[in-house]
Amino acid sequence: MDHVISGVAKFQKEVYPGKKATFQKLANGQNPEVLFITCSDSRIDPNLVTQTGPGELFICRNAGNVVPPHSNQTGGMTASIEFAVAALGVSHIVICGHTDCGAMKGALNPEALSGLPHVKEWLGHCRVASEVVKERCGHDELSHEHLEEVTQENVVQQMQHLRTHPSVAAKIATGQVKLHGWVYNIESGDVLCYDEKTGKFEAMDEAYAEEQLSR
Ligand code: ZN
Repeated sequence: MDHVISGVAKFQKEVYPGKKATFQKLANGQNPEVLFITCSDSRIDPNLVTQTGPGELFICRNAGNVVPPHSNQTGGMTASIEFAVAALGVSHIVICGHTDCGAMKGALNPEALSGLPHVKEWLGHCRVASEVVKERCGHDELSHEHLEEVTQENVVQQMQHLRTHPSVAAKIATGQVKLHGWVYNIESGDVLCYDEKTGKFEAMDEAYAEEQLSR
C-alpha cells in the first residue's frame, strides 16, 4: 500500500501542476463521449489502452464486464448506465472483455465457485454466453479451450442486455448511441472488435476502417 500512498503525493507534486488547467476545467462538470464498461481486473487500464485522460471515459467496472438485463430492481450498473446515457448523454457505449478473465473461467466452470456464492450468482448473467458456446460446439461441458469464445460471446450477450435498458434502447432507436463490443488482449495489447454484420471479432483497424469512432 505504501507505493499507492506515495503515488498520491507524487501525483500532487509532479503531475498535477502540469495539468492544472485541465483539472480546473473539469472541476465543475464532465462531458464524456463514451461509457466504457469493462472488467474489474487489475491488468486493464481503460485510459492507458485508449490513450484518454480524465473526463473522457465514464467507466463502469465489475467482475466479468457484466450488464444485468433490465429489471425493476435497481442495481449499481443499471443506475450508472441510466445516468451516463440519459443525464450525461454519452454517444458511444463500449463493452470491453479481456483475455485470461477470471470471471469467464468461473462461467466455464460454475461448480468451482461454491465458496463464492455472490460471484456465482453474478455470473448467472454470463450463463447465456456459455450456453450459446455449448450449443455451437456441441459439447455439454466447456473447458479452458473455450475460454476465448466464451469471453467474446459474453461481450456480445452483454451488448444484448444493454439493449433491454429503456434509456439505452431509446437512444439506440433514435441513432444517438452506438454500441461497441471489444476484447482486450493483456499480453499483446491487441483489441478485437465485434462486427455486427459478420457476427465475428476482428482487428480494430479492420473494424473501424470505414467509420470514424467519433461522429
Ligand atoms: Zn475479467
